[in-house]
Amino acid sequence: MKLVIFDIDGTLTLGGGLGTGCFFSALEVAFGTCPIPRRLDAYRESTDAGISREALEIALQRAPSVSELDRHKQVYLHLLEREILRTPGAYRPVPGADRVVSLLLEGGEWMVALATGNWRRAAALKLANASIQLGESELPGGFSEDGDSRVSVLRAALERAGAERQGSDFDRVVYVGDQLWDLAAARAAGVDFVGIGSGEQGRVLENAGAAVIEDFGCFERFLVRLEGM
Ligand SMILES: [Mg+2]
Repeated sequence: MKLVIFDIDGTLTLGGGLGTGCFFSALEVAFGTCPIPRRLDAYRESTDAGISREALEIALQRAPSVSELDRHKQVYLHLLEREILRTPGAYRPVPGADRVVSLLLEGGEWMVALATGNWRRAAALKLANASIQLGESELPGGFSEDGDSRVSVLRAALERAGAERQGSDFDRVVYVGDQLWDLAAARAAGVDFVGIGSGEQGRVLENAGAAVIEDFGCFERFLVRLEGM
């Protein structure tokens, strides 16, 4: 059995910055206007929890409390759900992403999980809106509730997938992502990586040494990359 772990934003779904907008609006709604960076790459971590903690540190000029962090999370999830309902086609699948999971599962050789910087509820909202289905009930994998760093989320996904296999090793593990921080997390966790990206984004990943494909439009091409060929 082999394991493929997907990032969500920019890898499976395209949201045109809607989620990021809601994330920073939620800080203002909950804590008032504050001069915080609105670019995700301005932050040390690449997860909802990590960015929330650092943004609140800047806004409050001290470490945020657990209840302040939770307040931001709840307001964000509320805004995200509202804006998704209001915005037709808020989230779209990356080409082919809406069928890549079922094709992998049908093949019987690959187990599928997620490792995303999203809080679990945000992940579920985005995937459902983009018509991407992963199993019947709870989403499998690692989420921002599992830690502030991308690698902690990836390790949580690996642990859960391993537990489902009762500890027997996977023949191959691949993380699929669209950002350099995904590649760094894969390297830190000791798993293979396939980059998703076109144009400049694809070149950035390629220059960092990643195997890259544009999207999942051709399933067979993706499968070749997953197999490391
Ligand atoms: Mg991403």
